[in-house]
Amino acid sequence: MGSDQRVIEAARLCWDSFDKSTPESDNRLIKHLLIKEHKTPFEHVVFTFKIRCPIFVARQWMRHRIGSFCERSLRYCTSKREFYNPFTVGSVNYNEYKLMCNGSYESYLLFIDNEVNQETARMVLPLSIMTEFMWTVNLSSLMNFLKLRLDKSAQHEIREFAKHILEVVTEILPVTMKSFEQEILYK
Ligand SMILES: Cc1cc2nc3c(=O)[nH]c(=O)nc-3n(C[C@H](O)[C@H](O)[C@H](O)COP(=O)(O)OP(=O)(O)OC[C@H]3O[C@@H](n4cnc5c(N)ncnc54)[C@H](O)[C@@H]3O)c2cc1C
Repeated sequence: MGSDQRVIEAARLCWDSFDKSTPESDNRLIKHLLIKEHKTPFEHVVFTFKIRCPIFVARQWMRHRIGSFCERSLRYCTSKREFYNPFTVGSVNYNEYKLMCNGSYESYLLFIDNEVNQETARMVLPLSIMTEFMWTVNLSSLMNFLKLRLDKSAQHEIREFAKHILEVVTEILPVTMKSFEQEILYK
């Protein structure tokens, strides 16, 4: 919901400066908002994403409190045999890693087959198992997420998701996101 124009509309309302709107002055205004951290105009742009990722990524993601989440519940749904395949597992043999994940999943199935309820059976599943959630977030909070999760100190996997989110959002708000990259992200 929203676009570069929505950000401009919200900001110009603050100063009743609609008559000053030109492509150049709107561009400068967006830069000004970003630099001065006048964040509320960005809150009027809202995104909803459906994310499929390993549980360890979702756990990092959901630390971002300013946003709304609904996650597929393993209390009520049965987990699928879908694990994240990392590029590397350090010194551990990759087949060993797969064996460990599958071993956990076999224990899970054994519990389910023995009528252990799903909320208990899931306790043996690894953090690499895939989850799904819906995330609704405004652009101000999304920029905070991108700033933190595109940083090289963030874990590789969530950084990859953040890169993709940046691409999607840039298609929708090219002016705002270009300024965000110049003024905030890579400073
Ligand atoms: C590289 C990296 C390593 C991390 N390592 C750890 C770790 O080891 N352990 C760990 O527990 N967490 C860790 N975190 C999570 C981190 O501490 C934040 O919880 C997470 O990044 C969410 O950031 P946020 O609070 O800015 O976002 P949001 O929760 O979306 O909040 C957005 C903004 O709202 C304001 N806000 C929200 N809630 C409050 C509040 N209760 N009080 C005051 N202001 C509030 C703040 O200004 C905040 O920046 C790590 C994060 C990163 C990026």
